Amino acid sequence: MVTGIDGKMVYRLAEGNASMVSLLGSKGAHASEMASIGIPVPPGFVITTEACLEFFKVGRQLPGGLWDAIVANVRTLEEETGRTFGDPDNPLVVSVRSGSAVSMPGMMDTILNMGVTDLTVAGVAEMMKDERPAMDAYRRLVQGFGSVVLGIEKDKFETLLEEAKSSRGLAFDYELDAAALRELVTQFRGVITEVTGSDISDDPWVLLRQAIEAVFDSWNNPRAITYREFQGISHDLGTGCVIMAMVFGNLGPDSGTGVLFTRSPATGEKTLYGEFLRNAQGEDVVAGVRTPQRIETLQAEEASLYAEIEEMARKLEEHYKEVQDIEFTVERGKLYILQTRTAKRTAPAAVRIAVDFVEEGVLSKEDALGRIPASDITQVLMPRFDGDAKALATQTALLAVGVGGSPGAASGVVVLDPDRAVERAEAGDLVILVRHETSPDDVHGIIKAQGVLTSRGGMTSHAAVVTRGLGKPCVVGCEELHVDMVARTATARGVTVAEGDLISIDGGTGEVFVGELATVEPNADDLHELNVLLSWADEVRKLQVWANADTPQDAQRAHQNGAEGIGLCRTEHMFFAADRLPHIQALLEVGPQASKVIRETDELAKALELAPASERESLIRRVKEAREKVESSKEVLAFHTELAELEKFQTADFYGILKAMEGKPVVVRLLDAPLHEFLPHYEDLIREEEQIFAAQRASNGSQASFGAVLPRPEQRDAQGFLLTPRDAQPHDAETADERGESVPVSEAAVEHHRLLELVKALRETNPMLGHRGCRVGLTMPEIYEMQVRAIVTAACRLTEEGTKINPEIMIPIVSHVNELKWLRPRLRAVAKETRERLGVEVTYKFGTMIEVPRAALTAGEIAENTEFFSFGSNDLTQMTFGYSRDDAETKFLNHYVETEILPWNPFDSIDFTGVGRLMRIAVEEGRRVNPELPIGICGEHGGEPYSIAFCHEIGLNYVSASPYRVPVARLAAAQSALGHLKSNI
Ligand code: ADP
Ligand code: MG
Ligand code: MG
Repeated sequence: MVTGIDGKMVYRLAEGNASMVSLLGSKGAHASEMASIGIPVPPGFVITTEACLEFFKVGRQLPGGLWDAIVANVRTLEEETGRTFGDPDNPLVVSVRSGSAVSMPGMMDTILNMGVTDLTVAGVAEMMKDERPAMDAYRRLVQGFGSVVLGIEKDKFETLLEEAKSSRGLAFDYELDAAALRELVTQFRGVITEVTGSDISDDPWVLLRQAIEAVFDSWNNPRAITYREFQGISHDLGTGCVIMAMVFGNLGPDSGTGVLFTRSPATGEKTLYGEFLRNAQGEDVVAGVRTPQRIETLQAEEASLYAEIEEMARKLEEHYKEVQDIEFTVERGKLYILQTRTAKRTAPAAVRIAVDFVEEGVLSKEDALGRIPASDITQVLMPRFDGDAKALATQTALLAVGVGGSPGAASGVVVLDPDRAVERAEAGDLVILVRHETSPDDVHGIIKAQGVLTSRGGMTSHAAVVTRGLGKPCVVGCEELHVDMVARTATARGVTVAEGDLISIDGGTGEVFVGELATVEPNADDLHELNVLLSWADEVRKLQVWANADTPQDAQRAHQNGAEGIGLCRTEHMFFAADRLPHIQALLEVGPQASKVIRETDELAKALELAPASERESLIRRVKEAREKVESSKEVLAFHTELAELEKFQTADFYGILKAMEGKPVVVRLLDAPLHEFLPHYEDLIREEEQIFAAQRASNGSQASFGAVLPRPEQRDAQGFLLTPRDAQPHDAETADERGESVPVSEAAVEHHRLLELVKALRETNPMLGHRGCRVGLTMPEIYEMQVRAIVTAACRLTEEGTKINPEIMIPIVSHVNELKWLRPRLRAVAKETRERLGVEVTYKFGTMIEVPRAALTAGEIAENTEFFSFGSNDLTQMTFGYSRDDAETKFLNHYVETEILPWNPFDSIDFTGVGRLMRIAVEEGRRVNPELPIGICGEHGGEPYSIAFCHEIGLNYVSASPYRVPVARLAAAQSALGHLKSNI
């Protein structure tokens, strides 16, 4: 048959290298690389991933020429090892291993001991100088071949194996003698014959061919397909197939097999971390048949072997410049490395390792900075259990102690299976998944859990590896914990927790507690390496990193995390405190009316200045009248009182924030939120009012109302708004007032009704696009004036106290330059007046948010009337897409992303082509007018790595992120500057 492949389909290890991962698969490429740098790897060859893809293309058979190439390479292997495949006296034994370009741990198949048959087993025994391990290898081959190649249920073999042990009163596989193993081989072959109708061949070449086909097939087994779908791995990669001479770890106590990390994958500490199992073959460690010994115990038992392992580990690390995850086997004291790959490690470990590598001279700072995905930094900052709470819990609530598999602290309810974990998590519970051990079938539950607790397995078990990848806490090998799947409980030290009970796990120490423990932020010691790494980031990044902070505490934290300024201080958040809300509500009640009277008076006064003599007299009179009206107005008085109250609060807030950020720029955004946000929900108020009336009716026995008949519940007006009792008054109904009845209505009820009336007055159909931001600033300028006075007053005070300050005032929701033309001089005048009154010299900047598409499109005009831009990318995204974020995210945005209508959620990462285009236009136009115009971003995108890369690319001066994301932004900005990170547009 003719194949579609031109190139080689088989490479000897000596012909490959680490760069050939996509052709040879990762296992094959790195085995080749190891061979080429003098690491002791058993000789072998690799069948390419292209051959695997061709295998599928031609209908699941070996492509033409492949078998010949395989045979030729086996011949070469025979020469290298001095043994012959199928030779009864001196047989070559190999493994047939799967391995694709992307690691898919445990998903595909590997067959060991290929070449052991009825005819060769005696020769193998001769070679091993022991019959038992030869029979054991044969037993494993038949078992592996039966389950992997022929697809027979694993249990069929396992049951027989268990029987063989129990009938002889043995606990471990390795205690079975040669005769028992021979008997098992016969029984296994019986199973195979029974299930498939024929015995397995005694010709090792036939078996080899079947094994290779099975390895190829395993690329498309359902497990592997599901895994790829979940991980977003392409189905078009194919698997390589590595054929390698076997080395035997089961030749007695001077042999064994192990896995190790070259540094701790949990903390990054430079110490070998792993497990070793004597007298065993590779799979035994992972299968958890016997509990392996920790690798460091080898140091005392066999110092020279340990030293040799350590030397190989360091050599591999230095070569790959990354922490490695290694499989090795010791055959009668001789060490072989069978696999190496970059280890999955926790974010704290990754940071520590990168910094240590630089200090050890293995990596440059620039490369170290490129090593760590910026978002992972948040995991280093993850909270841990509060020391006191934990000390107490250790005395009173310690349930059990296992092995710390993945660090971090988590509390949640015990759930014993993954499906239920998903269910409860989706219902809003925090869940700890508790299992004997986990497998790839549990991954959906692990993803939804806060943490995982297993009673079996070690640092290299599935649970530990997966959780470290996900950055979730995990405790493994908690052997004293008895998990009862029937009673659905877990018991240790005489204490039983049932499914649904709260527990807490510390993935660093392996401790498990009953109940929920308080958590705290990590301390400075924990963050030492991170701070070193970030200091290198600060040396190279071009973007400044600022933070969004609304309170002095936030500002402090931002400062501690390295923020160079506050890019967004939202003043409305200051109004939500319980002592302030009544004032803003009272202000809103009188504000519109009061502001209107004041404005009319001002307008008249202005008209008077310009008026011809003939009109002056009447104008003078009208101004006088208007002034009297303003002075006597209750509304105006109340308005000024509330403004003065709020000014006090605001001055104190700004004082605190400016002080915390000493000398650094602080951008204060004037009031932005739609006004209804300061008020209760209209619907809620209506229901409450009905309840009040109902209660009063019950107690008065009369129709209590404000001269109104109660509406039927939930009457609505034409726009669908619920009607207030007064609105709903039927025209023909006679009110209580009209009937002349005096109706007792409580004061509280009157208050409540006033609030309701206010909410009704401020109600908008679409508040996000309504009366908010500078639109309020234009219609009720007194509010912005008050805020500017508060900012300048705080600035003056601090200046007098000798504190350096750097305030910037920012106007939100600008869409037309005229808004700025009106507001700017007015607010500047207030600032000037305040400064002069206080007699202190302060400077400030006056800038504009760019968050309405029209503002971006007319950025040139706007730049002439402002001193900086700051992209409000949340609103800009909402208005560019025409989405209201809350509606979009609850209704259709997930669907859009899942069905690839949108490549990603534009609220997570900037939509570079659309929203990004507007940003580019604004930057270009703004800088054309003022080449020095400072431009930043203060939307949530400012803390997201790809968006940060984009901001770097379009030449912004800074990104402003939440205080918590500042470290992420510092690293992402450095990665953008070094070219490690690109927005990919
Ligand atoms: P996986 O990808 O599932 O780890 P591997 O191909 O790495 O599968 O092999 C499974 C186990 O068999 C591993 O422990 C490995 O070290 C061991 N193994 C593979 N090939 C050999 C060999 N030639 N000699 C000894 N042990 C081997
Ligand atoms: Mg492996
Ligand atoms: Mg906004």
